[in-house]
Amino acid sequence: MPNPYWMHMKHKPKLGQNFLVDDAARHAIVAALGDLSQRTVIEIGPGKGAITEILAGRCRRLIALELDRSLAPELAFRLRNQPQVKVIEADVLKTDLRALVPEGETADVIGNLPYYITSDILLHLFSAGSTGTVARAVLMMQREVADRVSAAPGVRDYGLLSATAQMNARVDHLFTLPPSAFSPPPEVHSTVLRLEFAPRFAELGVDAAGFDAFLHRCFAQKRKTLQNNLRAAGYSPEQLAAAWPSGVPPQARAESLALEPMAELYRALASGSTA
Ligand code: SAM
Repeated sequence: MPNPYWMHMKHKPKLGQNFLVDDAARHAIVAALGDLSQRTVIEIGPGKGAITEILAGRCRRLIALELDRSLAPELAFRLRNQPQVKVIEADVLKTDLRALVPEGETADVIGNLPYYITSDILLHLFSAGSTGTVARAVLMMQREVADRVSAAPGVRDYGLLSATAQMNARVDHLFTLPPSAFSPPPEVHSTVLRLEFAPRFAELGVDAAGFDAFLHRCFAQKRKTLQNNLRAAGYSPEQLAAAWPSGVPPQARAESLALEPMAELYRALASGSTA
């Protein structure tokens, strides 16, 4: 793993560069995607290749997207004899993932994410998941963010990110690593999640764009009740009373509602139903 050239390269904190140095962890991350022998895998931010070099021998095709213009060519050079691996110097957020995956196939995504854009990357993946481009992802992120992504309704960490993630994927909390697993060590612990992309919009009878905008309104201000957030968004007390799902207390906060009653409320408000 240690590469004499890289040892002299300065890490770039602005790019979220904390490189994984825990050998067991890098194997566990790859193992979390299961059998990859027939799969196309997209790696986000391969850096110096801690995960890449294990993945390269396990999957059918690997596309690694690295923004750092020094690291990308260095890794591409190092893996030059492995034709199934393509290292692309690119910003993952500006990359159309669909275009990387052969027609009719899905890909899996893996990444020890650059933490400064975790939420944006998740949204980018949800969008790719909704078109059937991405089937699963194993992602390392800051522990606090992972706790929010995987929180159940009613617990402290549940919020807009949890609801959005859980409308798009089944989320499994895998394991947490201390700062010492990285070089340089970050100031936070890191958690690995597995996401199985399975959008719930059709099942819950809502349109993706409309429901997404509705969730933003519901969670607009954490200290307000759901009714007050929706009043601030322009719904009248009469509209809310007519659409309010039975079993949801009038003073409920958005954080306490499961996705099913949330979708029921959205549908009733959208149809102007008095049911
Ligand atoms: N995978 C390596 C590891 O585990 O050691 C590096 C992980 S490091 C936390 C995040 C990596 O993402 C860095 O290599 C960084 O340069 C890269 N990166 C940052 N922003 C990116 C972006 N927008 N698109 C692609 N890669 C990015």
